[in-house]
Amino acid sequence: DASFDVVIVGGGAGGIATAASLHARKSDLSIAIIDPSDVHYYQPGWTLVGGGVFTPEQTAKTMGSLIPRGVKWIKAAVAAFEPQNNAVILDGCRVVKYDRLVVSPGLKLDWSAVEGLEETLGRNGVTSNYRYDLAPYTWQLVEGLKAGRALFTQPPMPIKCAGAPQKAMYLSGDAWVRRGVLKDIDIQFMNAGGVLFGVKDYVPALMEYVRKYDATLNFFHNLVAVDGAAKTATFKVAKPDAEPEQVTVEFDMMHVCPPQVAPDFIRVSPLADAAGWVDVDQATLRHKSFDNIWSLGDVMNAPNAKTAAAARKQAPVVADNIVADIEGRAPVAAYDGYGSCPLTVERGKIVLAEFGYGGVMKPSFPKFLIDGTRPSRAAWFLKEKLLPPIYWSAMLKGKEWMAKPEPLKVAAE
Ligand code: FAD
Repeated sequence: DASFDVVIVGGGAGGIATAASLHARKSDLSIAIIDPSDVHYYQPGWTLVGGGVFTPEQTAKTMGSLIPRGVKWIKAAVAAFEPQNNAVILDGCRVVKYDRLVVSPGLKLDWSAVEGLEETLGRNGVTSNYRYDLAPYTWQLVEGLKAGRALFTQPPMPIKCAGAPQKAMYLSGDAWVRRGVLKDIDIQFMNAGGVLFGVKDYVPALMEYVRKYDATLNFFHNLVAVDGAAKTATFKVAKPDAEPEQVTVEFDMMHVCPPQVAPDFIRVSPLADAAGWVDVDQATLRHKSFDNIWSLGDVMNAPNAKTAAAARKQAPVVADNIVADIEGRAPVAAYDGYGSCPLTVERGKIVLAEFGYGGVMKPSFPKFLIDGTRPSRAAWFLKEKLLPPIYWSAMLKGKEWMAKPEPLKVAAE
């Protein structure tokens, strides 16, 4: 059997960043990343693909080019965990053993949970920025629409980048304003939840754009079925003090954000909590029951916003705490729940939501540069020009720019 000091499951935002941060701290560690994918995606760029700003190719690189030098890439999918044997089982039953394990395979987009959706995606006006191959179709539909109804759906939480469903709506609305067709387009936001955005400080700025694009907000509307040929969408409506009902709405285009769940092989594993996510301590990111396992990114159950920005802050925390553990010390670093959601309210302006656990605002910049509660040109520049190179050239290379961990405060005994 193959055996490594550290095995990392998943070579996405969290996995590659952690490998690079660990390698930078201790170059003598034997590290393996297990991931079956040939391609690594910069998913935060997909909103801008759907908005006609980026090409899809700008958001993808080969996995091989991103695996840090000195780190072994095992090109396979993990099928199961055997934490009592310090082993993971790959598809095809190969076994990989580890001293310490990092779990970061992201989450599962559950397209099949919406009846009729998979069959019609990419056709009949049904699109989603949540898939690399479909994001360009969003822009194609936006450019083609002259009149009619456009639906933008948001499933129940948790989802990755909780702002992405409304980002798609705002960028579409902006394109229609610029083309002078907005007056003939009826924008409907269909949200399974009961609020526009979970951190209330950002809502007033967003509401200005809801009014600008004359979008109707429908809360407690959860997409359950699509009939592509008939161009109708069915929602389960569950308002707090009303009988649940179903409504069917006609559309000319629909941007779908799919329901999201923990990956199947995680949900059925001994690592999962009752809801299926990896069960970690929300400060140290160490597994609550298995001392030699850590987890970061979308797959784990800390109550942060599931974003690449969060993974950028989490990777150094995991790396610091693993190194401390190897050296026989207690955990040293704490994750503060930081996550960021750059809300693209119009082409050229962003409302930059940055917050930690409990919705506490955590701005990275002084207010005179970027006031996160106001639409900002500087924040758009950050998103379009700075964050992609920070992702590829700093975060994935173990250069921890804007990612210094907090020291762990240990409660007095
Ligand atoms: P991922 O980056 O998804 O990587 C998971 C990896 O695990 C993949 O490489 C996959 O192949 C691998 N894997 C899966 N299953 C297995 C298995 N069985 N065995 C081995 N490997 C496996 N974040 C932001 O910060 N800002 C944004 O503006 C933003 N916008 C977004 C917009 C959209 C449309 C989307 C879809 C996402 C957006 N995000 C944004 C969220 C961000 O992309 C994710 O939070 C981030 O990629 C999570 O990193 P991760 O490592 O947990 O998972």
